[in-house]
Amino acid sequence: MNAIKMVSLNGDPSAVPAEAVVGLQAALRGRLIHPGDADYDQTRTIWNAMIDKRPALIARCSGAADVMVAVNFVREHNVLASVRGGGHNIAGTALCDGGLLIDLSGMRAVHVDLRARIARVGPGATLGDFDHEAQAFGLATPLGINSTTGVAGLTLGGGFGWLSRKYGLAIDNLRSADMVTADGGLRRVSPDHNADLFWAIRGGGGNFGVVTSFEFDLHPVGPEVLSGLVVHPLAAGREVLAHYRECAQDFSDDLAVWFVLRKAPPLPFLPAEAHGKEMVILAACYAGDLSKGEAELEPLRSFGKPVADVIGPRPYVEWQSFIDPLLTPGARNYWKSHNFTELSDELIAVLLEYAGNLPSDQTQIVMDRLGGAINRVPCAATAYPHRDVEFVLNVHTRWESPSQDQTCIAWARKFFHDTAPHATGSVYVNFIPEDEARVPNAYGANYERLKTLKNKYDPQNLFRVNQNLGR
Ligand SMILES: Cc1cc2nc3c(=O)[nH]c(=O)nc-3n(C[C@H](O)[C@H](O)[C@H](O)COP(=O)(O)OP(=O)(O)OC[C@H]3O[C@@H](n4cnc5c(N)ncnc54)[C@H](O)[C@@H]3O)c2cc1C
Repeated sequence: MNAIKMVSLNGDPSAVPAEAVVGLQAALRGRLIHPGDADYDQTRTIWNAMIDKRPALIARCSGAADVMVAVNFVREHNVLASVRGGGHNIAGTALCDGGLLIDLSGMRAVHVDLRARIARVGPGATLGDFDHEAQAFGLATPLGINSTTGVAGLTLGGGFGWLSRKYGLAIDNLRSADMVTADGGLRRVSPDHNADLFWAIRGGGGNFGVVTSFEFDLHPVGPEVLSGLVVHPLAAGREVLAHYRECAQDFSDDLAVWFVLRKAPPLPFLPAEAHGKEMVILAACYAGDLSKGEAELEPLRSFGKPVADVIGPRPYVEWQSFIDPLLTPGARNYWKSHNFTELSDELIAVLLEYAGNLPSDQTQIVMDRLGGAINRVPCAATAYPHRDVEFVLNVHTRWESPSQDQTCIAWARKFFHDTAPHATGSVYVNFIPEDEARVPNAYGANYERLKTLKNKYDPQNLFRVNQNLGR
């Protein structure tokens, strides 16, 4: 066997001796996959089809010991590495060209400890895996809105979803984690152990090491939540969104209502005449007493003339995958994102203008509603800094054919530019596509402290394929 060509940490080509690669395979419990192996392409495929990177080697880790072996290999041979959890990151940071992919996607165990009311979660678990186990006991923790997203990457960036106004971000419910740091050691991080690292991983992304296990608090949720969509034609958008803004001021923390501007997909609960037409979609989840939820949602639901209202009690796990059909893997996706503290008339006007001029049938303008419990945590308490943000815009451009790349990306960038005057300038680290210049804005007031910790725990910047603090 010849030496393996890899890419070194500084980007130069590097030849790793054959015996080192043989030694790596021997030391792993999981498999080492090479280009040319039957499952190489499948293993390097991630959610966003825009990303086509070719790792030199893929270590399919089976547990923390495999992760330690992989990290030691990376450090000893000075090679580039990336870390894959659920493979959903829009920027494709799960993969690297020519390096070692530390693939955690097989480590999907979720263990619910009912006595302690916590869940121990493997780094390859998806939100669907988590909810499946926790909801068997009527429990949940705040995660995201699409069941195939990875718990790991979502949590390390902050993590918000339908329950976050009530229970905070995913990181606000993280009790501890086990992680392999750049020295190859496994550390427990919690308020009592390595507290500075525990602070850093709650919003600092994958910069500090590879998390091999998360421990979350659980809360009673459901099993049914009052949830669903109210759909209005775009022509009524200005009135509907102004009314939404007014109602939203009075919403309790039990209620999260996000909105989406897009062409109506051909889903069975939407009337056929609406399909393909631009719509304003209010997506609601009330995570408390169902009858109180009915009363709280009434002013929003009784407004105007919606083309559909499919809000009703449904199992929490069903709601957690309700939007999955619109977010399947394999399409081409490009995102831009802004944070807002308010929804001004001027901002609404720009949103509606662009909603009338979408570049593809699948493109959606998504406004996530934050606030509530998220914003009651001080900015310096965790690395995630955006505790003043009320709304997060995700310009989610999505299409099928490479021939549409230019048009769709140009549209997203122009839209991003035109909404910028109304935004805070900060950005959610998990929504950045490729723009290194925005990394300081993602870490905000906590940027300098994070850089100091990065230098302390990863001075070589081994963990650099991410929204990186080491540059
Ligand atoms: C369809 C869709 C819906 C989404 N919805 C939401 C939402 O509702 N709320 C929300 O907050 N976010 C949401 N996101 C964004 C999501 O949080 C990020 O894409 C996140 O990076 C996904 O995590 P992952 O494990 O799937 O990603 P991956 O691509 O596998 O990983 C992303 C990065 O995280 C780091 N990482 C992953 N695992 C580990 C680990 N174990 N140890 C150390 N570093 C690690 C690495 O740096 C890696 O490059 C959504 C994304 C998509 C595509």
